[in-house]
Amino acid sequence: MSARTATTVKPVAIADQFDLSLIVCLYFEEECVEEFVRQVQSELKSTAMHWEIIFVDDGSRDRTVPIVSELAVKDPRIKLVVLSRNYGKEAAITAGIAYATGKVMILMDPDLQDPPDRILDFYSECMEGHDLVWGVRQQQSRGLIEQLFSALFWKTLRGMTGLPIPIDVAVMRSFSKRFADAFLLFPESCRFIEGVFASIGFDTTTLEVENRPRFAGKSKFNFSKRISLAAKAITAFSDRPLTITISAGAVGLLISLGFAIYMLCQKLFLNIGLNGWTSTIAAIVFMGSLNLITIGLTGLYVGRVYREVKGRPVYLVKDTWNLTKTDDMSAGGTLHE
Ligand code: UDP
Ligand code: MG
Repeated sequence: MSARTATTVKPVAIADQFDLSLIVCLYFEEECVEEFVRQVQSELKSTAMHWEIIFVDDGSRDRTVPIVSELAVKDPRIKLVVLSRNYGKEAAITAGIAYATGKVMILMDPDLQDPPDRILDFYSECMEGHDLVWGVRQQQSRGLIEQLFSALFWKTLRGMTGLPIPIDVAVMRSFSKRFADAFLLFPESCRFIEGVFASIGFDTTTLEVENRPRFAGKSKFNFSKRISLAAKAITAFSDRPLTITISAGAVGLLISLGFAIYMLCQKLFLNIGLNGWTSTIAAIVFMGSLNLITIGLTGLYVGRVYREVKGRPVYLVKDTWNLTKTDDMSAGGTLHE
């Protein structure tokens, strides 16, 4: 069933401008999404504000879309954007922000790791004038190893990019409409969301949130996906790896030059023959590896440039429920109404 049919079946007059938009990405979340909606509805039922949930399905092939579209038919505040395939969470978030109309927007995951009972706290912080309220994980809510890895990741990233991303940032965060508009001006197709958020500026603060276990289902981010996210984050926001390889190359060059002079002196003044293969091979392998690393690293950046110049859309929309911009097939900041 298409979006158009869904809205014709049940036309309901609701606000054009919402006080609050929750943006939630879905990828194989059939086990969590109903409970998430139930908790959000119960949390917000006593408030007078107009709210909406913008669900963005990022190419799930389970029952996520049928479940959410059914919920959308029952409640017009539940909206769904179905992307044409799996684009990755960053693209899905971008689609959600492009469709949201709230004065305040909150990004959350549907697995209930982010507590719905904190929605109003995040909302109030924005209403007090903050443009971005980062959720930061409470230390005691996670295991020691997880805390260590997470701190290492965020500290490295901060060091490499120089961006003011809080250590241990959570997914849950709220931001103002003008912050969302600024976000949509960022045209890059390869986007590291935390980096873009941190480079926007405006008035920023943090709120501590508890990190709860996943309600159901499995995490979609395994170790290798996290490593590739880290590589993407660093290459998208920092050219420091390139300068580091230049320095490493310079150090290697000095060492090998010193070694060559030392051996030449031995030959000239002490008449000791150049001894053998071992040292030659060691030097060749050392310089060869350094070269390969440098070429690979440069290749990463060139690949990034290649992807960006193609100017492909960040996402394509297959279908929508309870949304009027059904003809939007586009990406990033450009919407065709
Ligand atoms: N997600 C997505 N596209 C993807 C992978 C994940 O939209 O390609 C969504 C997923 O539905 C979930 C969120 O990203 O809402 C976070 O994923 P998950 O809970 O698996 O990660 P974790 O919390 O373990 O980091
Ligand atoms: Mg999760």
